[in-house]
Amino acid sequence: MAVDPLIELRDVNKFFGDLHVLQDIDLTVGKGEVVVVIGPSGSGKSTLCRAINRLETIRSGEILLDGQPLPDEGKALAALRADVGMVFQSFNLFAHMTVLQNVSLGQIKVRGRKKEEADKRSRELLERVGLSDQASKYPAQLSGGQQQRVAIARALAMDPKVMLFDEPTSALDPEMINEVLEVMLQLAREGMTMVVVTHEMGFARSAANRVVFMDDGRIVEDRNPDEFFTTPNSDRAKDFLSKIL
Ligand code: ADP
Ligand code: MG
Repeated sequence: MAVDPLIELRDVNKFFGDLHVLQDIDLTVGKGEVVVVIGPSGSGKSTLCRAINRLETIRSGEILLDGQPLPDEGKALAALRADVGMVFQSFNLFAHMTVLQNVSLGQIKVRGRKKEEADKRSRELLERVGLSDQASKYPAQLSGGQQQRVAIARALAMDPKVMLFDEPTSALDPEMINEVLEVMLQLAREGMTMVVVTHEMGFARSAANRVVFMDDGRIVEDRNPDEFFTTPNSDRAKDFLSKIL
Protein backbone atom coordinates (compact mmCIF):
# COMPACT_ATOMS: atom_id res chain seq x y z
CA MET A 1 0.00 0.00 0.00
CA ALA A 2 1.34 3.40 -0.93
CA VAL A 3 -0.26 5.42 1.88
CA ASP A 4 1.01 5.57 5.48
CA PRO A 5 -0.65 3.09 7.80
CA LEU A 6 -2.88 4.63 10.48
CA ILE A 7 -4.19 1.46 12.13
CA GLU A 8 -2.24 -1.78 12.23
CA LEU A 9 -3.43 -5.02 13.78
CA ARG A 10 -0.81 -7.74 13.87
CA ASP A 11 -1.70 -11.31 14.70
CA VAL A 12 -4.43 -10.19 17.08
CA ASN A 13 -6.26 -12.82 19.13
CA LYS A 14 -9.10 -12.33 21.55
CA PHE A 15 -11.19 -14.74 23.60
CA PHE A 16 -14.42 -14.44 25.54
CA GLY A 17 -13.91 -17.40 27.87
CA ASP A 18 -13.33 -20.33 25.52
CA LEU A 19 -14.77 -18.48 22.55
CA HIS A 20 -12.00 -17.43 20.14
CA VAL A 21 -13.64 -14.25 18.79
CA LEU A 22 -10.68 -12.71 16.97
CA GLN A 23 -8.35 -15.21 15.36
CA ASP A 24 -4.94 -14.18 13.99
CA ILE A 25 -6.25 -10.87 12.71
CA ASP A 26 -3.88 -8.92 10.47
CA LEU A 27 -5.32 -5.68 9.17
CA THR A 28 -3.79 -2.40 8.09
CA VAL A 29 -5.85 0.70 7.42
CA GLY A 30 -4.01 3.48 5.62
CA LYS A 31 -4.51 7.18 6.20
CA GLY A 32 -7.56 8.32 4.26
CA GLU A 33 -8.72 4.80 3.53
CA VAL A 34 -12.31 3.65 3.94
CA VAL A 35 -12.58 0.00 4.94
CA VAL A 36 -16.00 -1.62 5.10
CA VAL A 37 -16.26 -4.69 7.32
CA ILE A 38 -19.03 -7.18 6.62
CA GLY A 39 -19.85 -10.67 7.77
CA PRO A 40 -22.47 -12.76 9.54
CA SER A 41 -23.77 -11.90 12.99
CA GLY A 42 -21.33 -13.10 15.64
CA SER A 43 -18.31 -13.09 13.32
CA GLY A 44 -16.40 -10.58 15.47
CA LYS A 45 -17.01 -7.27 13.67
CA SER A 46 -18.03 -5.31 16.76
CA THR A 47 -15.26 -6.84 18.84
CA LEU A 48 -12.76 -5.79 16.18
CA CYS A 49 -13.97 -2.18 16.33
CA ARG A 50 -14.05 -2.20 20.11
CA ALA A 51 -10.50 -3.55 20.26
CA ILE A 52 -9.29 -0.66 18.08
CA ASN A 53 -10.36 1.92 20.65
CA ARG A 54 -9.59 -0.39 23.52
CA LEU A 55 -13.09 -0.95 24.77
CA GLU A 56 -11.88 -4.57 24.63
CA THR A 57 -8.44 -5.87 25.54
CA ILE A 58 -6.75 -8.54 23.45
CA ARG A 59 -5.04 -11.78 24.44
CA SER A 60 -2.10 -11.55 22.04
CA GLY A 61 -0.77 -9.62 19.09
CA GLU A 62 -0.57 -5.86 18.80
CA ILE A 63 -2.63 -2.92 17.69
CA LEU A 64 -0.92 0.31 16.65
CA LEU A 65 -2.49 3.68 16.00
CA ASP A 66 -0.24 6.00 14.03
CA GLY A 67 2.68 3.71 14.86
CA GLN A 68 2.06 3.76 18.62
CA PRO A 69 0.73 0.87 20.74
CA LEU A 70 -2.67 1.58 22.28
CA PRO A 71 -2.35 3.04 25.80
CA ASP A 72 -3.64 1.05 28.80
CA GLU A 73 -5.16 3.66 31.04
CA GLY A 74 -5.44 7.21 32.27
CA LYS A 75 -5.32 10.35 30.21
CA ALA A 76 -3.66 8.60 27.30
CA LEU A 77 -6.60 6.22 27.07
CA ALA A 78 -9.10 9.09 27.11
CA ALA A 79 -7.09 10.74 24.35
CA LEU A 80 -7.11 7.51 22.35
CA ARG A 81 -10.91 7.32 22.59
CA ALA A 82 -11.03 10.87 21.23
CA ASP A 83 -8.56 10.06 18.45
CA VAL A 84 -10.65 7.04 17.48
CA GLY A 85 -14.19 8.35 17.05
CA MET A 86 -16.83 5.70 17.43
CA VAL A 87 -20.43 5.68 16.29
CA PHE A 88 -22.62 2.79 17.43
CA GLN A 89 -25.90 1.33 16.33
CA SER A 90 -27.55 2.84 19.41
CA PHE A 91 -26.75 6.51 19.37
CA ASN A 92 -25.69 6.74 23.04
CA LEU A 93 -26.39 10.45 23.39
CA PHE A 94 -26.71 11.94 26.87
CA ALA A 95 -30.48 12.23 27.32
CA HIS A 96 -30.37 15.06 29.86
CA MET A 97 -28.18 17.29 27.69
CA THR A 98 -29.08 19.38 24.67
CA VAL A 99 -27.69 18.55 21.27
CA LEU A 100 -25.16 21.37 21.61
CA GLN A 101 -24.06 20.16 25.06
CA ASN A 102 -23.71 16.62 23.75
CA VAL A 103 -21.34 17.77 21.02
CA SER A 104 -19.37 20.16 23.25
CA LEU A 105 -18.88 18.02 26.36
CA GLY A 106 -15.97 15.86 25.20
CA GLN A 107 -14.21 18.82 23.63
CA ILE A 108 -14.23 20.56 27.01
CA LYS A 109 -13.45 17.52 29.19
CA VAL A 110 -10.97 15.64 27.02
CA ARG A 111 -9.59 18.19 24.58
CA GLY A 112 -9.48 20.99 27.17
CA ARG A 113 -11.29 23.57 25.05
CA LYS A 114 -13.07 26.54 26.57
CA LYS A 115 -16.85 26.36 26.41
CA GLU A 116 -17.15 29.17 23.85
CA GLU A 117 -14.60 27.57 21.57
CA ALA A 118 -16.23 24.14 21.93
CA ASP A 119 -19.70 25.51 21.23
CA LYS A 120 -18.44 27.31 18.13
CA ARG A 121 -16.93 24.10 16.79
CA SER A 122 -20.10 22.19 17.70
CA ARG A 123 -22.24 24.62 15.74
CA GLU A 124 -19.98 24.25 12.70
CA LEU A 125 -20.29 20.48 12.88
CA LEU A 126 -24.04 20.55 13.45
CA GLU A 127 -24.33 22.64 10.33
CA ARG A 128 -22.21 20.14 8.45
CA VAL A 129 -24.53 17.27 9.40
CA GLY A 130 -27.58 19.35 8.57
CA LEU A 131 -28.76 20.03 12.13
CA SER A 132 -27.93 23.67 12.80
CA ASP A 133 -31.52 24.37 13.82
CA GLN A 134 -31.63 21.55 16.40
CA ALA A 135 -28.85 22.68 18.75
CA SER A 136 -31.04 23.48 21.75
CA LYS A 137 -33.24 20.37 21.53
CA TYR A 138 -32.89 17.23 23.63
CA PRO A 139 -32.15 13.86 22.00
CA ALA A 140 -35.66 12.52 22.66
CA GLN A 141 -37.07 15.37 20.54
CA LEU A 142 -35.11 14.19 17.49
CA SER A 143 -35.68 11.37 15.01
CA GLY A 144 -33.30 8.39 15.01
CA GLY A 145 -31.55 9.68 11.91
CA GLN A 146 -31.06 13.09 13.50
CA GLN A 147 -29.75 11.53 16.71
CA GLN A 148 -27.25 9.47 14.77
CA ARG A 149 -26.05 12.59 12.95
CA VAL A 150 -25.55 14.27 16.34
CA ALA A 151 -23.50 11.24 17.41
CA ILE A 152 -21.36 11.65 14.30
CA ALA A 153 -20.90 15.38 14.96
CA ARG A 154 -19.95 14.60 18.56
CA ALA A 155 -17.25 12.17 17.47
CA LEU A 156 -15.97 14.57 14.79
CA ALA A 157 -15.75 17.39 17.33
CA MET A 158 -12.82 15.61 18.94
CA ASP A 159 -10.83 15.91 15.69
CA PRO A 160 -10.37 12.15 15.47
CA LYS A 161 -7.68 10.50 13.39
CA VAL A 162 -10.11 7.77 12.39
CA MET A 163 -13.84 7.16 12.65
CA LEU A 164 -15.24 3.72 13.46
CA PHE A 165 -18.86 3.06 12.60
CA ASP A 166 -20.50 -0.09 13.96
CA GLU A 167 -23.72 -0.71 12.04
CA PRO A 168 -24.68 2.97 12.29
CA THR A 169 -27.89 2.60 10.32
CA SER A 170 -29.15 -0.77 11.59
CA ALA A 171 -31.46 0.71 14.21
CA LEU A 172 -32.94 3.33 11.87
CA ASP A 173 -36.22 3.38 10.05
CA PRO A 174 -35.59 2.93 6.31
CA GLU A 175 -36.40 6.52 5.39
CA MET A 176 -33.64 7.77 7.72
CA ILE A 177 -30.84 5.54 6.53
CA ASN A 178 -29.83 7.69 3.59
CA GLU A 179 -29.47 10.92 5.54
CA VAL A 180 -26.88 9.18 7.74
CA LEU A 181 -25.12 7.44 4.85
CA GLU A 182 -24.91 10.80 3.03
CA VAL A 183 -23.02 12.33 5.95
CA MET A 184 -20.68 9.33 6.02
CA LEU A 185 -20.14 9.47 2.28
CA GLN A 186 -19.26 13.15 2.54
CA LEU A 187 -16.75 12.38 5.28
CA ALA A 188 -15.19 9.69 3.14
CA ARG A 189 -14.87 12.12 0.24
CA GLU A 190 -13.16 14.63 2.51
CA GLY A 191 -10.47 12.07 3.23
CA MET A 192 -11.42 10.83 6.71
CA THR A 193 -9.97 7.44 7.57
CA MET A 194 -12.94 5.19 8.30
CA VAL A 195 -13.69 1.65 9.38
CA VAL A 196 -17.36 0.95 8.77
CA VAL A 197 -19.26 -2.16 9.79
CA THR A 198 -22.37 -2.10 7.63
CA HIS A 199 -24.56 -4.22 5.45
CA GLU A 200 -25.35 -1.22 3.26
CA MET A 201 -23.71 -2.52 0.13
CA GLY A 202 -24.47 0.65 -1.82
CA PHE A 203 -22.31 2.53 0.64
CA ALA A 204 -19.59 -0.11 0.35
CA ARG A 205 -19.59 0.16 -3.42
CA SER A 206 -19.46 3.94 -3.53
CA ALA A 207 -17.22 4.74 -0.55
CA ALA A 208 -15.02 1.78 0.31
CA ASN A 209 -11.45 1.32 -0.83
CA ARG A 210 -11.56 -2.20 0.59
CA VAL A 211 -14.11 -4.67 1.82
CA VAL A 212 -13.07 -6.96 4.66
CA PHE A 213 -15.23 -10.05 5.02
CA MET A 214 -15.17 -11.72 8.46
CA ASP A 215 -16.44 -15.12 9.44
CA ASP A 216 -15.95 -16.96 12.73
CA GLY A 217 -13.44 -14.46 14.08
CA ARG A 218 -11.26 -14.51 10.99
CA ILE A 219 -10.69 -12.18 8.07
CA VAL A 220 -11.62 -14.36 5.14
CA GLU A 221 -11.32 -11.77 2.36
CA ASP A 222 -9.78 -8.29 2.11
CA ARG A 223 -10.37 -6.98 -1.40
CA ASN A 224 -11.45 -4.01 -3.42
CA PRO A 225 -15.26 -3.75 -3.50
CA ASP A 226 -15.68 -4.37 -7.24
CA GLU A 227 -13.74 -7.60 -7.08
CA PHE A 228 -15.38 -8.70 -3.88
CA PHE A 229 -18.93 -8.18 -5.08
CA THR A 230 -18.45 -9.61 -8.55
CA THR A 231 -16.11 -12.50 -7.75
CA PRO A 232 -15.90 -13.37 -4.06
CA ASN A 233 -13.20 -15.99 -3.55
CA SER A 234 -14.58 -17.93 -0.64
CA ASP A 235 -17.72 -20.03 -0.44
CA ARG A 236 -18.55 -18.31 2.83
CA ALA A 237 -18.55 -14.88 1.23
CA LYS A 238 -20.59 -16.16 -1.73
CA ASP A 239 -23.11 -17.66 0.64
CA PHE A 240 -23.26 -14.47 2.72
CA LEU A 241 -23.69 -12.21 -0.32
CA SER A 242 -26.44 -14.43 -1.73
CA LYS A 243 -28.39 -13.81 1.48
CA ILE A 244 -28.03 -10.04 1.70
CA LEU A 245 -28.00 -8.86 -1.93
P1 ADP B 1 -20.60 -9.23 15.30
O1 ADP B 1 -20.44 -7.78 15.61
O2 ADP B 1 -19.90 -9.66 14.05
O3 ADP B 1 -22.04 -9.66 15.30
P2 ADP B 1 -19.41 -9.60 17.91
O4 ADP B 1 -18.03 -9.05 17.81
O5 ADP B 1 -20.43 -8.78 18.58
O6 ADP B 1 -19.89 -10.07 16.46
O7 ADP B 1 -19.37 -10.99 18.68
C1 ADP B 1 -18.46 -12.02 18.34
C2 ADP B 1 -18.72 -13.20 19.24
O8 ADP B 1 -18.36 -12.85 20.58
C3 ADP B 1 -20.17 -13.64 19.30
O9 ADP B 1 -20.21 -15.04 19.41
C4 ADP B 1 -20.69 -12.97 20.56
O10 ADP B 1 -21.77 -13.70 21.11
C5 ADP B 1 -19.47 -13.01 21.45
N1 ADP B 1 -19.42 -11.89 22.41
C6 ADP B 1 -19.45 -10.58 22.11
N2 ADP B 1 -19.31 -9.82 23.20
C7 ADP B 1 -19.20 -10.68 24.24
C8 ADP B 1 -19.04 -10.54 25.66
N3 ADP B 1 -18.94 -9.32 26.22
N4 ADP B 1 -18.95 -11.65 26.40
C9 ADP B 1 -19.03 -12.88 25.85
N5 ADP B 1 -19.18 -13.09 24.53
C10 ADP B 1 -19.26 -12.02 23.73
MG1 MG C 1 -21.86 -6.28 15.85
